[in-house]
Amino acid sequence: MSAIDGLPPLREVIRTHGLAAKKSLGQNFLLDLNLTARIARIPGDLSGASVLEVGPGPGGLTRGLLAEGAGRVLAIEKDARCLPALAEVAAAYPGRLEVIEGDALEVDALAHLAPPIHVVANLPYNVGTELLTRWLSPPEWPPYWASLTLMFQQEVAERIVAQPGGKAYGRLAVLAQWRCDARIALRLPPEAFTPPPKVSSAVVHLRPLPEPRWPAEPEVLSRVVGMAFNQRRKMLRASLKGLGGDVESLLEAAGIAPTDRAEQVSIEQFAALARGVAARSRN
Ligand code: SAM
Repeated sequence: MSAIDGLPPLREVIRTHGLAAKKSLGQNFLLDLNLTARIARIPGDLSGASVLEVGPGPGGLTRGLLAEGAGRVLAIEKDARCLPALAEVAAAYPGRLEVIEGDALEVDALAHLAPPIHVVANLPYNVGTELLTRWLSPPEWPPYWASLTLMFQQEVAERIVAQPGGKAYGRLAVLAQWRCDARIALRLPPEAFTPPPKVSSAVVHLRPLPEPRWPAEPEVLSRVVGMAFNQRRKMLRASLKGLGGDVESLLEAAGIAPTDRAEQVSIEQFAALARGVAARSRN
């Protein structure tokens, strides 16, 4: 029995329920309940809070979240084999854990959980970036989520928190930091997982700001930044040709040299450029 909740240790859960890891589902499990408790503490006090967990697997992080006092956890898991193990967790925390069998890219969490929601997940790597992009582009800001605490391959985590001037700086950094505080909260070696993945991992913690750091229309900013980094080695006067019209004047009005490359441009400058593009299309 485990000290945190009286449920069996995770190795035993995996054995009992035959949960041999499947590569196709990005299954690299965390079996150390001290570690999952540490991750569950990153968002701060969860007492009574609503939590969305994507990919609970055998339930290590889920158990950490519940033991930390989360009032309601909605866990979305694609692998039906995990459901009996998760039902045991639900029984140990009556009325606090709802498990949905399905694809997190298709389930509408808001139909099941009331905001504010803390999102905490050891994400399957193949859907992690897509989910993050969606969470960062909600219909309204501030978003329905109160924080995001997400495991990524270290290289992706570095891209989320990157500053201008380096290779890691790109669309993800701009999207994340334009209206969130983003930091790496924990780094984990491959051996922390069973089976160990090929690369190191890191947990990123994001908190939404009440308003963007600099005003811009989200769709325009996203389009401009996407275009700029799509051809990141080119000078902006070339990579942004698709904007049409006098691109050099637009860049100069935003305080950007037309000969600069995307990775030299700050988020403040991208926001100014997006405002210029939006203003031009209104005229
Ligand atoms: N949270 C568990 C842990 O920390 O040990 C498992 C993490 S494992 C990296 C990712 C989990 O996400 C697996 O259980 C996998 O079956 C599940 N998964 C993969 N793709 C999914 C998807 N599209 N929607 C929901 N769950 C998914």
